Amino acid sequence: MDRRTVLASLGAVAAASPLRAQEPAQTSPKWSSPVIDMHFHMRRTPEANIAHQQGAGVTAANLLARADAGPAAAALKAQKPAMFPSWFGSTDVAKPDAEQILTQAVKDGAKGFGELKFPVAADGPEMRRVYDLAAELNVPVLIHFQEIGQPAAPGGYNTGIKRFATMLKAYPKTKFIAHADAFWANISADYHEQEAYPTGPIVPGGVSDKLLADYPNLFADTSANSANNALSRDAEFTKDFLRRHQDKLHFGSDCNCEDGKGGGAAQNSDRVAPRMRGKCVAQETLKLLTASSTPAIFRKIAWTNAHRLLGMTV
Ligand SMILES: [Zn+2]
Ligand SMILES: [Zn+2]
Repeated sequence: MDRRTVLASLGAVAAASPLRAQEPAQTSPKWSSPVIDMHFHMRRTPEANIAHQQGAGVTAANLLARADAGPAAAALKAQKPAMFPSWFGSTDVAKPDAEQILTQAVKDGAKGFGELKFPVAADGPEMRRVYDLAAELNVPVLIHFQEIGQPAAPGGYNTGIKRFATMLKAYPKTKFIAHADAFWANISADYHEQEAYPTGPIVPGGVSDKLLADYPNLFADTSANSANNALSRDAEFTKDFLRRHQDKLHFGSDCNCEDGKGGGAAQNSDRVAPRMRGKCVAQETLKLLTASSTPAIFRKIAWTNAHRLLGMTV
């Protein structure tokens, strides 16, 4: 066939099979290993939770449930044990009954505390009692570190990442999972809280990088625009960072999209960082991790590290 004939026949196929032509958009991506999303805020219905997993090609998710959503998380786990094998419980750490609520969550089956995102200092009395409790119950604590106010989250949360070595030293039996912009912006040594999502090449020796290297009880998840932005700044640095911390990082999305493909109003609103609007954070970060690591390192970050931390069989 000459070129014109080929084009004509392709056109005929496309015209005759509109459904087939749309198939690639409906197909879920395939990753090089199974994936667990360690930062998945539980949605309102079982169907909505399942839709994000299927759309993004994600095997499993650790559900982050608010204090009163523990029973719903446990029910979803019972309904879909392979897809939702674990959940974390949360409550306002400033409330007097915080310890009681968190303890009850673990009794009800929670495998960790989080996400803890409250306007307190990360080394203040509210968080210190949580760290003590986490050590006692042997569950990790997922912390949102933020210094700079944002449209969707004004003010600071768990402030003081630059002082956090003191906590890691004081609570050696507590397993900390770090997340959010103050943690990820601080992988560069030149960060001075000038903006939430700095860009440009990384200056080695940042606070977060050092904390991960120096303290065996610190872990981090790669969720949200904060991690995606940080790991998109400097390809050579990112490869080395993932290699050096391959046993300390967990994939997470913190995505707001409805379908695992960037759809829905929440992921397309001005509360979402412009670079992530209309995109699925899970997919974007899994692509980034794939491009920046070996299949063996990807598997650790996407699957095995989280299972080891939560005491689940792979
Ligand atoms: Zn957060
Ligand atoms: Zn998504």
